Amino acid sequence: MTLRFYDTATRSTRDFTPVTPGKAGLYLCGATVQAPPHIGHIRSGVSFDILVRWLRAGGYAVTFCRNVTDIDDKILSAASHEDVPWWAVAERNQRAFTRAYTALGCLPPDVEPRATGHVPEMIVLMRRLIERGHAYAAGGDVYFDVRSADGYGALSGQRLEHMRPAEDTDSGTAKRDPRDFALWKGAKPGEPSWDTPWGPGRPGWHLECSAMATKYLGSTFDIHGGGLDLVFPHHENELAQSRAAGDGFARYWMHNGLLGLAGEKMSKSLGNSLLVDAMITHVRPAELRYYLGQAHYRSEIEYSAEALAEAGAAYRRIEGFVVRAAEIAAAPGQDAAAGPGAVPARFAAALDDDLSVPQALAVVHEAVTDGNSALAAGDGAGATKHLAEVRAMLGMLGLDPLAAPWAAEGGGDLRPVVGALAHLALEQRQAARERKDYAAADAIRDRLLAAGILVEDTPRGPRWELRR
Ligand SMILES: [Zn+2]
Repeated sequence: MTLRFYDTATRSTRDFTPVTPGKAGLYLCGATVQAPPHIGHIRSGVSFDILVRWLRAGGYAVTFCRNVTDIDDKILSAASHEDVPWWAVAERNQRAFTRAYTALGCLPPDVEPRATGHVPEMIVLMRRLIERGHAYAAGGDVYFDVRSADGYGALSGQRLEHMRPAEDTDSGTAKRDPRDFALWKGAKPGEPSWDTPWGPGRPGWHLECSAMATKYLGSTFDIHGGGLDLVFPHHENELAQSRAAGDGFARYWMHNGLLGLAGEKMSKSLGNSLLVDAMITHVRPAELRYYLGQAHYRSEIEYSAEALAEAGAAYRRIEGFVVRAAEIAAAPGQDAAAGPGAVPARFAAALDDDLSVPQALAVVHEAVTDGNSALAAGDGAGATKHLAEVRAMLGMLGLDPLAAPWAAEGGGDLRPVVGALAHLALEQRQAARERKDYAAADAIRDRLLAAGILVEDTPRGPRWELRR
């Protein structure tokens, strides 16, 4: 099967044909850094991280651009509320987002442009739009003339005559049409501003993304991504202004479904408990990533602690097989083919078909079942073969327990040291058993458990693992 994606603009699943063969440019609307992220904000990051990994695995040289919106009304409002500069709010929350993406194993983007660093590019874009008769300066602002744009509303499936006024500026502005949206907002007292030929002010949200996407990916690029809540007005407006300026802009529009927190928003304290920083103090990040990534990216999911716990158990089942099989594979006399191999064809077909992670995970779980049967039967070669497949598949989903960043989670560099000490204790336990001093043998096992080391007796002798 060839790689294909559901494209919001055409409402159809289309084969992926890049602008340049062998290359793929992806622009993802990133964070507006007004507050630290909760898990709903990071779902998009995980979904598109799987896309980037799968494109790269398919041989595409991917350029992944994810922006940061570091100026907007909510950032200014948070800054004034806290009585700190706007840029301090933006910096602090951008760091929180970076921490969250990193904690959940999202690969860093190739470029992470900030809106306020791209004002010259925005001025150029506004000039092109004004010269072509698609934008006008009025009352200190610059507006996009939506009636001048062919097909305005097509991305979100709306007709212009049914659209409500754009809610991006105060009422009583100098707009020619209430549906016109602000490209640039004139300076207000006490607010940060940048000079332009039309007066000082600050960027409108939509203009930023058009300017940054085309700067880093070219006037026509492959994929534009974001959450489903961004289709209108944000992406509609990005598309309208870029096309009006003469750019081809994105050829595929991919939108992830939202993670609903309806039940949790009832209480502010519960809402705070879903901040990524807070959650990873009691949920292992790999399990949280599994939870966020397991559903189809276009599906809506409603957060529940039970579903998160089930996802954690599913991940631990996979992890348990990988860790045990890796021990066998690394044992003397085995082929050392314990690294990731090739993914099964059914797994590849699932991800090629609009990134169908649920189908892909079903293939992973089948391979784990087969691998566990091989382990139970003492079939080291069979277990090793399944291990290679499972690790290859998990790598595409960013979930291989033996690869970065998760490998370090289980003890990291200290694992060999812990292993040597555990081995010493297990030798003493064995000696106690041989002299039939079972109380001493059990005491050693209990002391290890108290230290966080779980001992299990297997037909191949005792094995240990860190208690999770
Ligand atoms: Zn955007």
